[in-house]
Amino acid sequence: MDRKVALITGAGRGIGKAIAKELALKGYNIIINYNTSEKGAKDLYEDLKVLRLDPMIVKCDISNEAEVKAMVDKAMDKYGHIDVLVNNAGIAIDALFFDKKVEDFRKTFDINVIGTFLVSKYVGDKMYQNKYGKIINISSTNGINTYFPMCADYDASKAAIISLTHNLAVQFAPYVNVNAIAPGFIATESEIGGMDEEFIKLEEEKILLKRAGTEQDVANLVNFLVSDQASFINNEVIKIDGGIYGDC
Ligand code: NAP
Repeated sequence: MDRKVALITGAGRGIGKAIAKELALKGYNIIINYNTSEKGAKDLYEDLKVLRLDPMIVKCDISNEAEVKAMVDKAMDKYGHIDVLVNNAGIAIDALFFDKKVEDFRKTFDINVIGTFLVSKYVGDKMYQNKYGKIINISSTNGINTYFPMCADYDASKAAIISLTHNLAVQFAPYVNVNAIAPGFIATESEIGGMDEEFIKLEEEKILLKRAGTEQDVANLVNFLVSDQASFINNEVIKIDGGIYGDC
């Protein structure tokens, strides 16, 4: 059976891993991209093998064009098509605004924006030729209406991802649906790892549903957006944040 194939960047941990597992459960062969989380990627690979799927692992720094091109070539050699791309990989460098360095800004943009551009460029081209594809970019509510000067570079990068989403939708029309997801507060290890209980509670109080989101909440939305039920949703940005009081 020729299964659909999904490439998830940053699938070795956090939200990316949850998305990879969810799509695997829906029968996709998964291209597990990682940069430093080798163990997480290998554990996921073994889990997917148990499901009798045929995944592959590719170590690739998405900000490096040669590595991205090699990753896409390798995936095309194995499967011949890539049907879904989830640009999930991203970083945030927290530092007080006046301590923020030009290097922080450049690194954040290199990975979050240029990385998303590069993977979309090489995969989008294959999807266009195949006349089928779904690209989902993981932005953030920080790219829309939540601002913290401590992560000014991150916020700007996530806004740029939304702009990029619209350009990609135009570039790859009419064959590829391109949408962005903008999560709010999602309780991944890297997000809440350094937070004390009290701060987490304060953040949750701001959310109408009075809880942080889970990795699975985001994976469920990805699963819907790549499904046939969502085939007319294109060039859209969908927030997933539990609702914020006063937000409209
Ligand atoms: P995370 O646990 O910190 O994971 C980040 C992922 O990005 C890791 O898998 C990491 O791979 C990958 N990555 C970083 N640099 C990379 C590079 N140069 N090349 C390839 N992969 C790279 O973060 P998360 O909380 O799951 O967040 C995932 C995405 O959701 C991010 O884009 C984040 O900005 C966005 N988001 C998160 C939240 C939240 O509250 N958690 C809210 C809004 C948006 P390795 O570990 O292999 O290096």
